[in-house]
Amino acid sequence: MEFVLIAIAILVVALLTGISLLVGRGRRTTRLDDDAAAGTTLTRPRPVPPADTAPAPPTPSGATASGLGLPPETVEIPPAEPEPGLVFDTPLPSAGRLVRLRSRLARSQSSLGRGLLTVLAREKLTEDDWEEVEETLLAADIGIAATTQIVDRLRTQSMVLATASGTELRELLVDQLTAVLGPDLDRTLGTDRREGRPGVVLVVGVNGAGKTTTVGKIARVLVGDGKSVILGAADTFRAAAADQLETWGERVGVLTVRGREGGDPAAVAFEAVRTGIEAEADTVVIDTAGRLHTKSGLMDELGKVKRVVEKQSPVTEVLLVLDATTGQNGVVQARVFTEAVDVTGVVLTKLDGTAKGGIVVSVQRELGIPVKLIGLGEGPDDLAPFEARAFAEAIVG
Ligand code: GDP
Repeated sequence: MEFVLIAIAILVVALLTGISLLVGRGRRTTRLDDDAAAGTTLTRPRPVPPADTAPAPPTPSGATASGLGLPPETVEIPPAEPEPGLVFDTPLPSAGRLVRLRSRLARSQSSLGRGLLTVLAREKLTEDDWEEVEETLLAADIGIAATTQIVDRLRTQSMVLATASGTELRELLVDQLTAVLGPDLDRTLGTDRREGRPGVVLVVGVNGAGKTTTVGKIARVLVGDGKSVILGAADTFRAAAADQLETWGERVGVLTVRGREGGDPAAVAFEAVRTGIEAEADTVVIDTAGRLHTKSGLMDELGKVKRVVEKQSPVTEVLLVLDATTGQNGVVQARVFTEAVDVTGVVLTKLDGTAKGGIVVSVQRELGIPVKLIGLGEGPDDLAPFEARAFAEAIVG
């Protein structure tokens, strides 16, 4: 009788294990939640075994949950391979993206470039004409200081302007716009491994700015550049954000570490970095929450995430995502974030949806932080490294 009971128990356990394996197939996610108190649950796509062989047993990679004060449970990190019928995207490298996406920008900014060139091409520029130039630049959100700089410089060149051909005029304008876009600012992204540890990128910003989308796009840029990436879904306030991120990751074969809804964001960030270290990834990119009701709550939360991450590995880049369509409001918001964490770069999103491309200039001048990436659409690869001259060329059209 006892044997029969034991046999039934074994059967039930085997059945449950089989079901959980089936449910987990096709996902590339580390889940850090209540159930994971005994360790980390890792579900990811498995390599496809040839039809005539049995699935290979998992090989341990040595990833542990010890950093969370949990028993050093070993989890498996198999190589990224798509499920049958699922093909990973292979995004193009980031180089030259701004030039490729130039038409996106030109479409919304063309009024700026065309407007300026029409005025500057007039035979003799009057005070009214210069005022028009000034108004056009201000309307594009370039800001007073940069507008004054451009107008002053163009005025000193007015003799040259008077005899310039259309092409020369365009070139002069591009030069002046490039000059206010900070062509010499260091826009290198801190995504590379340092001292045997992955680069850690923390992405912050208010909800709706395009933060999660940007993290997904950054993962694609990095994968396109041949890097191995781990994503951390530390926006635990919204399950949808983690789902969204996971989908982005799955498309390019990148693992996402996520936690229980409402769980501790710092614990998820910690776990993502730990996984990145264990997997010897090049970069860990962490999405954070943007919806906190008080400024001090936000500061505390982000500060904590950064501190906890840095127990394992330094944060090599803090990117602030700003929605370009919010104009000066975005700059005000940005200040709150710069007080909370040491922001090292700005990602300006939705530049395809605004005629106020000059916001790049205001953001850089007012925050003293370089714009490193720009979002030019909702498509997965509509994110480009910012380049001052290519941007100026695009807005002049
Ligand atoms: P989050 O709340 O900050 O994480 O914002 P999401 O990533 O969810 O993005 C909010 C919305 O902005 C989504 O509909 C995105 O598709 C959209 N979005 C993000 N970046 C861009 C961009 O560069 N251009 C356009 N047109 N839409 C964008």
